[in-house]
Amino acid sequence: MARVLILGGGFGGVVAAERLAEKLSDEHQITLVSRSRNFVFYPALVRLAFGKCQPADASFDLRHALLNRRVNFIEAEAAHIDPVERKVTIAHGEVEGKLPFDYLIFALGRRLATERITGFYEHAHHLLNVDKAIKFGKAIEKFHEGRAVFGQCFGARLPVPVYETAFALARRLEEKGERERVRITVVSPETVESELGDFGGAVALKKAFDAHQIELLPNFRIESVTQDSAMTNSGDVIDFNLLMLVPPFRGSSAASHLGITNDEGYINVDSAMRVIGHERIYAVGDCVNFEGPKMGHMAVRQGEVAALNLAAEIDGHEPVSHYSHEMKFVIDEAGSDGIYLQKDIWKDEPATVRQSRFWSWAKRGQKEFWELSHS
Ligand SMILES: Cc1cc2nc3c(=O)[nH]c(=O)nc-3n(C[C@H](O)[C@H](O)[C@H](O)COP(=O)(O)OP(=O)(O)OC[C@H]3O[C@@H](n4cnc5c(N)ncnc54)[C@H](O)[C@@H]3O)c2cc1C
Repeated sequence: MARVLILGGGFGGVVAAERLAEKLSDEHQITLVSRSRNFVFYPALVRLAFGKCQPADASFDLRHALLNRRVNFIEAEAAHIDPVERKVTIAHGEVEGKLPFDYLIFALGRRLATERITGFYEHAHHLLNVDKAIKFGKAIEKFHEGRAVFGQCFGARLPVPVYETAFALARRLEEKGERERVRITVVSPETVESELGDFGGAVALKKAFDAHQIELLPNFRIESVTQDSAMTNSGDVIDFNLLMLVPPFRGSSAASHLGITNDEGYINVDSAMRVIGHERIYAVGDCVNFEGPKMGHMAVRQGEVAALNLAAEIDGHEPVSHYSHEMKFVIDEAGSDGIYLQKDIWKDEPATVRQSRFWSWAKRGQKEFWELSHS
């Protein structure tokens, strides 16, 4: 009998648990520990901020879904991991103490390093959880004129919601007849080409920005924020009346002391999703050290690969599945078109870029599809 422990109940952890439940016979035990029983469907948070869906549409209770699939669920914090003794210290939850494991999957997501931007906590909005998206939504409701600035901080790895926020605000103001009163600027710490990893994708995005009079300010690395202005590392200043930033990301602090991470705290893995330097330990999702943006569909694919390989390992086999690093997303232009981009990050080939109303529609249906197939 093997005890498999999964840390983190997001896209990567949930998919890994489901695949393991399908693959492993009943004698094996699967346990998932997550700090909240709520699964958050992050791609819905821009729509939540703009009042296009309800909080209940952006998250759902994991426990029943997992129990139905014979996965034990523990709502608690994974505080400390001992990869040699193979024990995880569980705190602040329904169970406390040390949980032994034979196999482990890290799926702890990212840490928001807001402390790296002076004044972020006090003066910037973000939408990286349900409460913050709702708070940002209240600020949007009160905003009728002035300048809106949206962007990523250096080290953030998530451009899609920034672009979608700009489109959603432009659309909202157009509908209310207030568009002329507001200047919308998207700031990027690098360029759109590097954020999207593709020239063709950047051309399509810039065209769509132009159509909605959204300005683009590349190479603008915000380092500090006050009540009404943001400043870069080189002293450039931008004033705002509404600010939403994606803060810098770092790997989970639960893994940072184990000697398995890079300088930013992301876990080093091979293409079988095995943690380099430790046996019987895997990692998936935003917490792993792969280049490029951090996206849900990558976490899902990595969760599948890890589960297949872990099941094979229990049976004494070599890895049966390998991950290839593909970027695939839709930028919803809020009401009209959507831009679809798909690219193999590990290959030097141009992306496939498509633009049509279909993609916006497809993205909105994603959450229903996810909930139906995982609850
Ligand atoms: C606003 C927004 C929009 C996005 N839009 C898209 C999109 O359009 N397309 C796309 O592909 N991706 C999108 N993403 C990215 C996508 O949501 C992430 O890549 C995905 O959530 C990563 O999955 P994960 O399982 O690695 O981490 P998460 O989903 O973050 O899950 C990590 C889990 O671990 C838990 N956890 C963390 N630390 C601990 C601990 N110490 N103890 C116990 N539990 C812990 C957390 O509570 C959480 O449940 C978006 C993200 C955001 C924020």
